[in-house]
Amino acid sequence: MVNALITGTNKGLGLGLTKSFLDKGYKVFATCRKMAKAKELETLSKTFPNKLKILEVDVVAPNAGESISNFLKDEPIDLFLNNAGTIGLRGQGFGQVTTSDWLEVLKVNLIAPLLISQSIIENISKGSEKKMFFLSSKVGSIADNSGGGMYVYRSSKTALNQVVKSLSVDLLGNRISVVALHPGWVRTDMGGPNALISIEESVSGMIGVISRTTLTDTGKFFNYDGKEIPW
Ligand code: NAP
Repeated sequence: MVNALITGTNKGLGLGLTKSFLDKGYKVFATCRKMAKAKELETLSKTFPNKLKILEVDVVAPNAGESISNFLKDEPIDLFLNNAGTIGLRGQGFGQVTTSDWLEVLKVNLIAPLLISQSIIENISKGSEKKMFFLSSKVGSIADNSGGGMYVYRSSKTALNQVVKSLSVDLLGNRISVVALHPGWVRTDMGGPNALISIEESVSGMIGVISRTTLTDTGKFFNYDGKEIPW
């Protein structure tokens, strides 16, 4: 059995990824911030009682890494998908940025992914696939930034990309692949109703990328359709 750990699974892409990996026969260790907002996930756990394990955790809580590590115990993790993320408050143009909103977004999108990675590295090392994927965003690409603005969210994903790159270098000796993944512009609460693609299209594309990824792809940034994105 292949084991996956996915964060932010009560809705959107995290829920879509959880459903798809369960359908593929994976055992999924799913984290979500509030069970009270996770009705669909709860229903799924009745359909897959032995294959879906849920932990309620806020990824920015001081003990989040320890809680996730205790949740996994000695289980090998073949695939880690750091999906939980936030866009922050809507006004992020020049002249609108505040310290408190920026820090909140950096905690979720940048700091938590590295701290969680540090706390689960033994589980990943025991896995047979040894893959770590971080949901980034094309708006975090410096090369692709022709629109300006969006300081808070953009910079959080740019910095996450740098974390991905360093992890890929540091974990190469452990034969762990570390990749940044853009899911497309997707119709979720974050992407909004006018986004270009459905959750199903994004998830199916991302699963294609995940299954094709080998150690030769470590340290790269991929679109959900498999095209490489410049940093
Ligand atoms: P979403 O529908 O807003 O879902 C975000 C998920 O992250 C929710 O489960 C949310 O839980 C969780 N989360 C946020 N803060 C958290 C915290 N402190 N602790 C635990 N969980 C937390 O967004 P989405 O569209 O599915 O996005 C998933 C990922 O894809 C994000 O990393 C996002 O940046 C990235 N992405 C999305 C798009 C897009 O077009 N949708 C494009 C590029 C990148 P709550 O419900 O409790 O808040």
